[in-house]
Amino acid sequence: MNVIIVGIGLIGGSMARDLRCKYPEVSIYGMDASAAHLEEAVRLQLIDGIATAKELSEADIVIVSIPVDAIVQELPKLLDAIGDDSLVIDAGSTKSEICRIVADHPRRRNFLACHPIAGTEFSGPTAAVSELFSGKTNIICDVEKTAFKLQERALSIFSSLGMRIRYMNPEAHDKHIAYVSHLSHISSFMLGKTVIEKEKNERDIFDMAGSGFESTVRLAKSSPAMWTPIFEQNKENVVETLDEYIQNLEAFKQKLIDNNFEGIYKEMDNTNKIKAILKGIPQNNKDR
Ligand code: NAP
Repeated sequence: MNVIIVGIGLIGGSMARDLRCKYPEVSIYGMDASAAHLEEAVRLQLIDGIATAKELSEADIVIVSIPVDAIVQELPKLLDAIGDDSLVIDAGSTKSEICRIVADHPRRRNFLACHPIAGTEFSGPTAAVSELFSGKTNIICDVEKTAFKLQERALSIFSSLGMRIRYMNPEAHDKHIAYVSHLSHISSFMLGKTVIEKEKNERDIFDMAGSGFESTVRLAKSSPAMWTPIFEQNKENVVETLDEYIQNLEAFKQKLIDNNFEGIYKEMDNTNKIKAILKGIPQNNKDR
């Protein structure tokens, strides 16, 4: 199996690690805007070497794991360059704009739009880890627009990486992901900013930071180069989630000002059901 990974960072590099482990005969070549990342990826044995655009026509699978603004630019060109039987999958954290840009491409049936819900706050090939995708969900959008035999090829690979599959349309994906991923990142970035601005003496932050602060602010270490285009492409949904979040913050503040501690208790008690939700326990019983 010939694989070309375009963007050999956290996601592309982690895919490379797992593919090498599950398919020992695989050959993996990389393309990347960063020469340093390509060199590092060869040194780490994530890839066997560097691919050129010419070699795309020989690839069985092309994995596109670059920032979402770059996907929108590069994907049509990659589809132009592949062979008739090549499968192209992306890993972009937004889906509407990416699916829109290739909707009328003559090779649309060679492309499968994916978003693996797996990652960390680190980037580049040195951040790549094994088993990143094991037990995680892969959201596939507009599956019916991909040739059936290429869907099968993709599903067999995702299954070997241990991924669960959810099918969704791109608009629903972008709306839902704005709440669970994009808003979480903004909330973490702004918590970090608020504390940094207040506590100019960083030693105090460091000394007093407990595991609660550290885990809540973890996502604020994420790459601005990756996140700015995500917020840009999903702006409308993100603004809507921010409006709701700000309303909740304002309401909480007002309860404090009003000494409404019973209200505050109830608010937190109601929100505690997140424990059960995250464990997958259904919440349709109102008495729970
Ligand atoms: P990453 O670690 O920063 O890797 C991306 C790589 O692509 C970098 O080496 C980058 O080089 C390179 N690149 C940028 N523009 C390029 C272009 N036009 N052509 C070729 N290479 C280019 O990013 P990542 O975290 O793996 O994310 C990759 C994709 O997966 C993104 O679309 C992201 O939305 C999605 N995703 C990320 C996560 C996560 O948690 N990180 C989870 C799920 C999905 P430079 O560093 O020099 O720009």
